[in-house]
Amino acid sequence: MAAPEERGRSAFQWPDPPDPDKYSACVHCGLCLEACPTYQELGLEDQSPRGRVYLIRAAAEGRLPLDGALVDPVFRCLDCRACETVCPSGVRVGALIEEARGQVFAARPARGGPGRLQRLILRKIFPYPGRLRFLARLGRWYQRSGLRRLVRAAGLLRLLPPHLREMEAVLPDIPARTSREQLPPRWPAEGTRRGRVALLTGCVMDVLFAGTNVATARVLARNGFDVVTPSGQTCCGALHVHAGDRETAKTMARRNIDVFLSEDVDAIVVNAAGCGSALKEYGELLRADSLYREKAERFSRMVRDISEFLAEAGFEPPKGRIDARITYHDACHHCHAQGIRRQPRELLRRIPGLELIEMPDSERCCGSAGIYNLTHPELAGPLLDRKMADVPEGVEAIVTGNPGCMLQIMVGVHRTGTSRKVLHTVDVLDAAYRAEVETT
Ligand code: SF4
Ligand code: SF4
Repeated sequence: MAAPEERGRSAFQWPDPPDPDKYSACVHCGLCLEACPTYQELGLEDQSPRGRVYLIRAAAEGRLPLDGALVDPVFRCLDCRACETVCPSGVRVGALIEEARGQVFAARPARGGPGRLQRLILRKIFPYPGRLRFLARLGRWYQRSGLRRLVRAAGLLRLLPPHLREMEAVLPDIPARTSREQLPPRWPAEGTRRGRVALLTGCVMDVLFAGTNVATARVLARNGFDVVTPSGQTCCGALHVHAGDRETAKTMARRNIDVFLSEDVDAIVVNAAGCGSALKEYGELLRADSLYREKAERFSRMVRDISEFLAEAGFEPPKGRIDARITYHDACHHCHAQGIRRQPRELLRRIPGLELIEMPDSERCCGSAGIYNLTHPELAGPLLDRKMADVPEGVEAIVTGNPGCMLQIMVGVHRTGTSRKVLHTVDVLDAAYRAEVETT
């Protein structure tokens, strides 16, 4: 720790600076180093959790300016939180990283095309479901009009960066209707009614994995819950927090809090690990907001991942068979951020015929990490290759609970040239329930 006379003005001059209680908890033991994917890859102290915490503290104490020596390590972090799982002092490295990114985002006006594009997407697209829907329709038109075939035949995809090119190749067919358009305002419980829950439809899940959102509602109803889908909800803001745009994230959080707390529900259910983690941290995001702090904490306490909710509430084991061998990838924001490991496996193991074969190191990040695979392909690429190398022989599908991981692993499947499916846990459970209906 710097002596008081060595300290200058903190480099963090904007709202929500990194919390001293969080960085002071680090005892520099280094137990986190080997758990950190960027340290494993680069072998550099400043690209390790301990190094990052040290740099953040130095900047907070005025010993380091807000320049490349801090900015690069802070933005090369995956925010995977593997370090938090192993840290004996409970250092909240992910929260510190996000707070430091907030300072950088506030301090540096967008420069150049990529910076302006990022702010445009974060501030003018994601908070508006109607604009996302419009973009999804454009994407669907691109996929189905013949334009995609022309673009591919003309070799125009070579103009894209390699990872975007791979994404284009594996992007699932965009559904004609978003889940918000498909889901009724209230999906009634089947059989004896056990409660009432609200469903977060999200942004990527809503437009790209609409079927998984519908399956989530169907599975909840099948287990006795009324499912309401509030129409005024918006994106959870996780991507904004990751990027450092905390003010936009707060605006979206306040909106979701108002919308969901006005519903009379027992829980707020979410099926994307990244969104669930962000929603559970609204209390922390709005801790300085005297109007919303208490409401945000109440909201966060009501949030449950779908696997967590079903495991807690109890679910009816499906009788329908799925004869397949699968493996499971733990999304970082499930296992490290929310401690969700057992629950998805519990759901999968109750499906007749399904054989779950564990993959080694299933909690290692796949390299998706929000848009990290696009911003840092040089690190995300090797992480994905390692993940694919760990997929056990003979499995037909890789199951996980986060849309970013699903897309990234689809790229991995494409790279390895196999025909394995990439599925969401709820899709598998829903298929088992539906198989039961079909066979009776
Ligand atoms: S972050 Fe935790 S594990 Fe890493 S050096 Fe600090 S105290 Fe040790
Ligand atoms: S969040 Fe992940 S990438 Fe970042 S310091 Fe921790 S282990 Fe390393």
